[in-house]
Amino acid sequence: MFESKLPFSVNTCSITSSPEKFVCINIECSEIKDQSFGCYECLIKKHKQIDQLHFEKIIEIPAFLSQIKQKSKQKNDILDKLIIDCDSKKKLVLQQIHELENFVNIDLLHQRLLQLFSTYLAKLQNEKDLIILAPDYSNQQHLKLLKFYHEDIEQYGKVITQSGIELQGEVDEILENYQIVSLQKFNKLKNQIEALKIQFNEQNQKFAQWEIQRERERQRESPFMQIVEQLKLPVIFVLSILLFLVIGHNLFYLNAQDFDSRLVLNQTQQEDLNINYTNQEYQTNYTKYTNQTSQANQTNQTSQTNQTNQDKQSKSQNTRNQQWLISEILENRRVEEFQNFTIIYDQSFNKTFTQDTYERIQKRVFWDKNDKLVCIGARENKNLRLIGCDLASEVFSITQDAYSARKSQNGEMYWYWVQSKSFGFSPNKNIALTNIDNEDLSSELRFSFGTSKNLEERRVGSQYGHKNTSQYNLVIYASKDNN
Ligand SMILES: [Zn+2]
Ligand SMILES: [Zn+2]
Repeated sequence: MFESKLPFSVNTCSITSSPEKFVCINIECSEIKDQSFGCYECLIKKHKQIDQLHFEKIIEIPAFLSQIKQKSKQKNDILDKLIIDCDSKKKLVLQQIHELENFVNIDLLHQRLLQLFSTYLAKLQNEKDLIILAPDYSNQQHLKLLKFYHEDIEQYGKVITQSGIELQGEVDEILENYQIVSLQKFNKLKNQIEALKIQFNEQNQKFAQWEIQRERERQRESPFMQIVEQLKLPVIFVLSILLFLVIGHNLFYLNAQDFDSRLVLNQTQQEDLNINYTNQEYQTNYTKYTNQTSQANQTNQTSQTNQTNQDKQSKSQNTRNQQWLISEILENRRVEEFQNFTIIYDQSFNKTFTQDTYERIQKRVFWDKNDKLVCIGARENKNLRLIGCDLASEVFSITQDAYSARKSQNGEMYWYWVQSKSFGFSPNKNIALTNIDNEDLSSELRFSFGTSKNLEERRVGSQYGHKNTSQYNLVIYASKDNN
């Protein structure tokens, strides 16, 4: 028997003469030929023999193929929709990236995205190619067709759509990275601007220092100040003599007037006059004398004047002591000699000296805008092994030349502060900053301190390196008074 309508040729069963146009759609039956295909009677008989009573699964081949055809169409529709979606997404994304600012290589990004979309589209197309829209039945194809017949289209749709979502994720990530790259470029520009700002501020600071220096010079040059300076010493000298005479006169007067008092006084006198008076002792003793004289008021006044003079004298001596330090390189001085100074910095040589350190020190020194006397150098316990002193504007001025130090305006002393290398002082103009100063290796009067983060080299006189010099502290002192 032959039915031309069916898309396959139908044989007649040699046993029952019925058309062999039935299949069992049970998966387990598919592997055994006479259990999966044949005429209805034979299939029923076979299934009864093996006690498989799922007769509802024995169906006509046209119904079998029709079901497969329907599912194929559903799959095809799903794939078509995904291809259209993907195509329009591709166009949209590629259009968007060309509208963005051209910070990175757009073509490269374009290529990358295009490749992603193309791979996915090819995958969808491949799936489409596997679909048999007009299936034929043949016994060899049975297993394959059975798989199509049982395929869960809903699940298939989910899986294939999921891979589309993953693609979108990848595209988003690439675009995000692209924006991060743009952001990084932006930040780099921002940092460059910050650096320029810092440079600008430094220049401003230098200018301010220069003005301070100028102001100081102007004050020095004013005729009135010159006269005051010149008169200071003689006036102090005269006042000292007066003080001496007044004490002498009072003692003499007392001796003559009161003999009993004199005995007491002689004792006190000898104790006290043999040692140097401190102001307080003098005040106490002096009050004792004057209380016993009739000239109490007059001498009290003199005593006060004298005391003030003594204060002035010691103060001016201090100032002079500090002034002689300007533009001086000193070796092996006691720390006590600098007890009138403020300690601005005192840290081990091991500690890194950064730009930040420099700025903090500057703030501490110049807080009141006075150009103080500053001493900088190496301390080992109580000994200042090597120290250089000058006005702060000289010490902290940034220089550029690695082979030439800047001469101090105040004397024969040379300073340098090359930011990427080192700072320090030298007794002459010549320096050689490979990092720290390597000029005249035997010179004991050269001090050099590395400022690069990875180059913690130091020089104290003829001592070099890091390990050899780690017993020292870097110290910076500043005078308390403005000169
Ligand atoms: Zn079966
Ligand atoms: Zn049969």
